[in-house]
Amino acid sequence: MADVELIKSHLTAHPDFPKKGIVFLDIFPILRNPVAFETLITHLVHHLTSHTAATAPSKKIDVIVGLDARGFLLGPIIALRLGAAFVPVRKKGKLPGECVSAEYEKEYGTDSFEMQADAIKPGQSVVVVDDLIATGGSAKAAGELIAKQGGKTLEYLFIIELMFLKGGSKLDAPVYSIVQSD
Ligand code: 5GP
Repeated sequence: MADVELIKSHLTAHPDFPKKGIVFLDIFPILRNPVAFETLITHLVHHLTSHTAATAPSKKIDVIVGLDARGFLLGPIIALRLGAAFVPVRKKGKLPGECVSAEYEKEYGTDSFEMQADAIKPGQSVVVVDDLIATGGSAKAAGELIAKQGGKTLEYLFIIELMFLKGGSKLDAPVYSIVQSD
């Protein structure tokens, strides 16, 4: 598909970043190009509202949850296009008021994600958005925060999925990714 090729052509690979042995895929060149950025958002919104998606038109999406930090660049735009709420998941200690929290595995030890306690109402339908899924640890923690508040996660949405890490197998709903990388 031409839109997928355009999006792919604006991804860059950075060997040995943030440390030796890691190839970091950078999505910021997409945001630097308005045509590529618009194509990305349109692709994701079209996916969410298409008949083949786990979200299907009959299932109203109430909330888009974006993950700290690059999920914040995509989530609010998608939420506005859908007429849905946007809710951030942030690293521990950044959000005011009562929060729910969930731990996730990092390379060394664990980290904690938080969401404001009144952000999702019981029964609401939610889609989680981030730029990339690797091990799936952070997306899984976000799913736990949604479940703790009685929300139902319909789908996890990413630009890039690192297939060899099988992160999607940890999650309680299907993954949709535009680019699958080995
Ligand atoms: P996971 O929790 O699935 O192991 O890691 C996913 C998180 O790490 C996402 O929030 C994502 O932004 C970040 N991440 C890990 N590797 C990369 C990468 O190569 N490129 C980008 N853009 N983000 C990455």
